[in-house]
Amino acid sequence: MLDIKELKKLDIGKVVVSPLMKEYTTYKIGGKADAMVSPKDTDSLIVLLKYLKEKQIAYKIIGNGSNLIFSDEGFDGVIIKLDAFDTLKIDKNVVTVGAGYNLMRLSLKMSRSGFSGLEFASGIPGSVGGAVFMNAGAYKSDMGYVVKSAKVLTPDYTVKTFTNKELDFHYRTSFLKQNPEYICLEATIPLFYGDKNEIMELINERKVRRITSQPLEYPSAGSVFRNPTGLFAGQLIEDLGYKGKKIGGAMVSLKHANFIVNAGDATCKDLEELISSIKKDVKEKYQVELKEEQEFVK
Ligand SMILES: Cc1cc2nc3c(=O)[nH]c(=O)nc-3n(C[C@H](O)[C@H](O)[C@H](O)COP(=O)(O)OP(=O)(O)OC[C@H]3O[C@@H](n4cnc5c(N)ncnc54)[C@H](O)[C@@H]3O)c2cc1C
Repeated sequence: MLDIKELKKLDIGKVVVSPLMKEYTTYKIGGKADAMVSPKDTDSLIVLLKYLKEKQIAYKIIGNGSNLIFSDEGFDGVIIKLDAFDTLKIDKNVVTVGAGYNLMRLSLKMSRSGFSGLEFASGIPGSVGGAVFMNAGAYKSDMGYVVKSAKVLTPDYTVKTFTNKELDFHYRTSFLKQNPEYICLEATIPLFYGDKNEIMELINERKVRRITSQPLEYPSAGSVFRNPTGLFAGQLIEDLGYKGKKIGGAMVSLKHANFIVNAGDATCKDLEELISSIKKDVKEKYQVELKEEQEFVK
């Protein structure tokens, strides 16, 4: 049982009691967690992790909640939000950035200053840590292409620098995703000197494409499924006539069939039902096993 008084006494950062997870996720779905803590720094994070371990209390790290689906029943444990890890150091063309820093903000800031390399990230609404974990990407690039190294907190509470190779980036996955007890604290990203106007032109062009092709006017968590090798999940789903199909408040987007949107008061249960119906039909029709890119948190 979590003792809020005891948790607050640790004095490790902001504590929100009974946070409603729908307020901390881009899907706007999810019940209450017991508490949410934003540790002030790495030492505070370590104090918190040790405390939770000793008390056998579950925890979940979140960044910007843009890839997560929390249960309607909420989360029985503590949410750890790394929003205080938002440092940014720029040394010539090398950026060292905290895990809690917003990726879109970073992309735009660096691009506007004439640095090239993060253009792909200008429409990805995650945190740097969440993006390293997911190996977030777009337009044939991803974090694996640009991250040189990352500072990671290991399960024995030591801070280790992982090289790009050790981070083991592959399509929408990484060492961190395979080993969620490791926590990304910071990433180092070398960029290229480029032409500010050309970089911004590309970003603006892609922004228009995203607005036209993605349902950004609704809450969602981006693509629901990973693309199966050589195929597009969205195309398979569209071909089955799923665009506009609704279960409760969850609806397959009319703009892009690999997006499910919260069209109004969607529950996690609505999403689960819609996702499993799509998976069943795609398997039956195409013998393809779709895998979720989004993560259910129970
Ligand atoms: C409109 C929209 C468009 C999107 N477009 C794209 C796209 O083009 N490409 C793409 O790849 N994704 C896209 N996404 C999905 C999402 O933005 C990415 O997956 C992003 O990387 C998630 O980052 P986050 O900080 O929100 O992570 P969260 O959703 O908060 O967490 C995701 C996972 O990362 C873990 N995690 C978070 N921070 C850390 C950390 N510091 N250390 C260790 N683990 C951590 C969490 O525990 C969780 O398991 C889109 C989402 C939306 C809503």
